[in-house]
Amino acid sequence: MIGIGYDVHRLAEGESLVLGGVTIGSPLGSIAHSDGDVVLHALCDALLGAAGLGDIGEHFPDTDPRWKNAPSRMFVEHAIHLLAENGYVLVNIDITLILEAPKIKPYKEAMRAEIASMTGLQIQRVSVKATTNESIGFAGRKEGVAALCACMIKHGDDA
Ligand code: MG
Repeated sequence: MIGIGYDVHRLAEGESLVLGGVTIGSPLGSIAHSDGDVVLHALCDALLGAAGLGDIGEHFPDTDPRWKNAPSRMFVEHAIHLLAENGYVLVNIDITLILEAPKIKPYKEAMRAEIASMTGLQIQRVSVKATTNESIGFAGRKEGVAALCACMIKHGDDA
């Protein structure tokens, strides 16, 4: 089964920017109730979506003080736990990050390693890609950062 996820956060000066569990050196950071990690939020929705288990907003409402400034790794680990409880095994993850600046290349391997460690996947099964938005739209104007994620899961009963 396939899952997709998408997330956006607004960017502002003086906020920290955490993507894929890695702190990025940037003058702009994401405004959020949690740590605002769009990569992990999109991943979480892809995982939940693949198993038909709802979405991140249902499991971790931003009105709940327990999740204030929460590391998004907790959301991903909970989603992985729910998959396991329902008999699913994660096969692979493919992420696209949409961000005008800074360049993500120096951080990609660290993000893959972080995501591999929180999902239990081999690093070869975690793909992290990035693109600019060609200076157009909210991402292009550096008003926000977005991430897309696809994942494949299989049920333990399937061959
Ligand atoms: Mg989010």
